[in-house]
Amino acid sequence: MKILKIDHLGIAVKSIDAGRNFWTQVLGLPCEGTETVAEQKVTTAFFPVGESEVELLESTAPDGPIAKYLEKKGEGIQHVAFRVAHIEEALAELKAKGIQLIDEKPRSGAGGARIAFLHPKSTNGVLVELCERK
Ligand code: ZN
Repeated sequence: MKILKIDHLGIAVKSIDAGRNFWTQVLGLPCEGTETVAEQKVTTAFFPVGESEVELLESTAPDGPIAKYLEKKGEGIQHVAFRVAHIEEALAELKAKGIQLIDEKPRSGAGGARIAFLHPKSTNGVLVELCERK
């Protein structure tokens, strides 16, 4: 498995409109626009930072994973995403190493990425996303 870089940090917010100000106005980062991923009941906004990005996540439904996260933990860093060269290969290797996978197979993420999550039980409490982009 080859980890290429930190692709992005996922940050849960109650509202992208309310939350984006810090990233754009205060830090001066550009916003690449928003995208809704219906399957994950989430709207995302990406802010490129050098080789990586900040991803703000706003729930589109009260039963979505981000809504549940906000209920339990409040706003803040929700996951870290690593860019991998071959996501199926990475998942197979991690599974063989005994890592609990949330997604056995990649699914579609924002920006046309193929993504999969690892269970925080296997990662010292960090929700880890693998991400492959062409
Ligand atoms: Zn993400």
